[in-house]
Amino acid sequence: MNIRRPKIAVIGAGWAGLSAAVSLIQRADIALFEAGRQAGGRARALAGKDDGFSFLDNGQHILLGAYHGVQTLMQHIGVQPESAFLRQPLQWYIHEGLQFQTASLPAPWHLLVGILLAKNLSFSLKIKLLSDMSALQRWAGHHKTDLTVAKWLRTRNVPRSLLGQFWQPLVWGALNTPLEQASLRILCNVLNDGVWSEKANSDYLLPKQDLGR
Ligand SMILES: Cc1cc2nc3c(=O)[nH]c(=O)nc-3n(C[C@H](O)[C@H](O)[C@H](O)COP(=O)(O)OP(=O)(O)OC[C@H]3O[C@@H](n4cnc5c(N)ncnc54)[C@H](O)[C@@H]3O)c2cc1C
Repeated sequence: MNIRRPKIAVIGAGWAGLSAAVSLIQRADIALFEAGRQAGGRARALAGKDDGFSFLDNGQHILLGAYHGVQTLMQHIGVQPESAFLRQPLQWYIHEGLQFQTASLPAPWHLLVGILLAKNLSFSLKIKLLSDMSALQRWAGHHKTDLTVAKWLRTRNVPRSLLGQFWQPLVWGALNTPLEQASLRILCNVLNDGVWSEKANSDYLLPKQDLGR
């Protein structure tokens, strides 16, 4: 019996399109359409021209240990994540402000000890930060509805210094959204996957070469 393979068009050769194409290739005939001259989408490198650079990376991409799908995809195409990335503990660095790095301990001790040893933060603010994080974890388990991160922070009376040194940059970095619009539930999901669940998930994976390759 002649079983015809389905024909599937994938639009866009960014990471999403490339992942879809690689996942489907065994079971279907794939046509991958890309409007740009090279694959990679927002995570591609651009060939340099007359600007003195041989190539221009489109933004330093920092991945997290929690990006299991990306690592599986890489293994699938023959790239070993251990050799493709430099693995570093999560580091928080605000110039002349809050600075810490996670400790080499299982979760949640990696974060707890990291924050207790943080630079440029008083002991009382360290305790406040840890107690707010712990309250956020409890919130995630007990509430079905959502609210904005800003609203929740107001209920916790978070001091201005912790807003500026921690919550604001965290939410911009993790959700690309201002506090007044950011979803508390999505923030909890990201923190749960990336920081609270396992120490290894919170590690930074720094690409040793541009992601276009
Ligand atoms: C400067 C910068 C820094 C970043 N840093 C990080 C980071 O540190 N860590 C992190 O996790 N993420 C980072 N990101 C985000 C990350 O790059 C993106 O989330 C990811 O690349 C998105 O992949 P995608 O496939 O969903 O979309 P895209 O990369 O946008 O790919 C979409 C592709 O579809 C093509 N396309 C669109 N419409 C059509 C059409 N009609 N026909 C044909 N082709 C089409 C586009 O040309 C593009 O190539 C950063 C992004 C930027 C711009």
